[in-house]
This record gives sequence, structure tokens and C-alpha cells, in this order.
Amino acid sequence: MDETVRYPVPAYLIETATERILIDTGLNPAAIADPAAHYGRPDLFAVIALEQEQSVADQLDLSTLTKVVLTHLHWDHVGALQLVPASVPVFIQRREWLAGHDDAAVQRNSFLPLDYADKGRELILIDGDHDLLGDGSIELLLTSGHTPGHQSIRIGELVLGADVAHFASGLDDHRFPLFADDHEQQKRSADRLREMRDAGSTVIPGHDPDILHPGPVTA
Ligand SMILES: [Zn+2]
Repeated sequence: MDETVRYPVPAYLIETATERILIDTGLNPAAIADPAAHYGRPDLFAVIALEQEQSVADQLDLSTLTKVVLTHLHWDHVGALQLVPASVPVFIQRREWLAGHDDAAVQRNSFLPLDYADKGRELILIDGDHDLLGDGSIELLLTSGHTPGHQSIRIGELVLGADVAHFASGLDDHRFPLFADDHEQQKRSADRLREMRDAGSTVIPGHDPDILHPGPVTA
């Protein structure tokens, strides 16, 4: 705790001939200047400062999206969800969505419902692994542990691991953040992604500074 770590908060865009799919939304631009006040959580943001060069809305026209996939409900992944038009369907694991509306789970996981408590939105709740487009090209993988219904995304041989491991080394050494819904389950999810990596897939970790550079991230 005596060392400050600065890490990136990624969102990803998958484009096909007919789809524009946003994976996570990054930070809420309205929260950057004073997150403690914005969320009413000075406890949570006592040791965290936010920076943002461009919000996801500055980087692409959100009205052109066909789908949003949320890996999980942490505030650095759903922060800008309110900027996405309500007509764009949002894909999330059912157990994550339910946890995000359960007081005990919200507390345990430091969820901030302000970012996702949007009533009029089209939600597609997923149970387990899911073939997103029905052609095998993009698969949602249930990789819980970090949060109750965390999911990763496989695009061909590329896997967006999200917060199964913040750093690439976490798949091997199981050094995770102190906070988690279930560290034992997180280890099993890390082992699953490690097996995919060892079989030839490229696994992108959640917040490793090396994700800012193109190409595989190695431990
Ligand atoms: Zn997270």
C-alpha cells in the first residue's frame, strides 16, 4: 500500500461486416474530477484517482453500436454505459446482473449502481458460455471469481480476459487484487484462460500497462 500503481482502463470495439460491438465502456466522464463526490463514496476513492484523456463517447459514435458486452459491473467497466443509447442491447451474465441488484453482493463487490441503474435499457442476460453471433466467431466465456458473473470474450484466437487477471502474470502466479467475490473461483477462471493461452490463444489481461502496446502481452 506504500506504492502507487497507474494502470489503463480499456474498452474494446469489435467490428465485423454487420456488427459494431463495444466491450465494456470505461470510466464515467462525469466522475473523473471528483469520484468520491460523484458516487458519494469517499471511502472507496480515498486511495484511487481517475484520469481520462478521452471518454468512449469521444472516441467513437456510440449511436452506431449494434451491441454492448459488459465483462462485469465494476465502475471502471460500466462507467460510461449511460452514454450508450438505450436501444443498443447490452449482454451480461445473468448472475452478474442479479448480484448488481443484491445489497450484500453490491457491498462485497464495491459495485456502484449509479452507473448501471438504467431502467429502460434492452438487456440480454446470459447463462454461462454463449456464442454471441451464432456463428462461433465470438464467444462469451463465464469466468467468475473476480465478480459473481464475470465474463471474458473470445474472438477467434484472441481472448479478452478482462479482470480474471489484472496483469498478464496473474494467469500463472495467481496474484490477484485483494478484493474479489471469490478468489478460489478466480483461480479456476485464471487456469481456464491459461490453458487457452498455452494452447495457442492470445489472452489480453484486464489492466496490465502493456495492453497499451499492440500485440500479445506476456508476463
Ligand atoms: Zn473489475
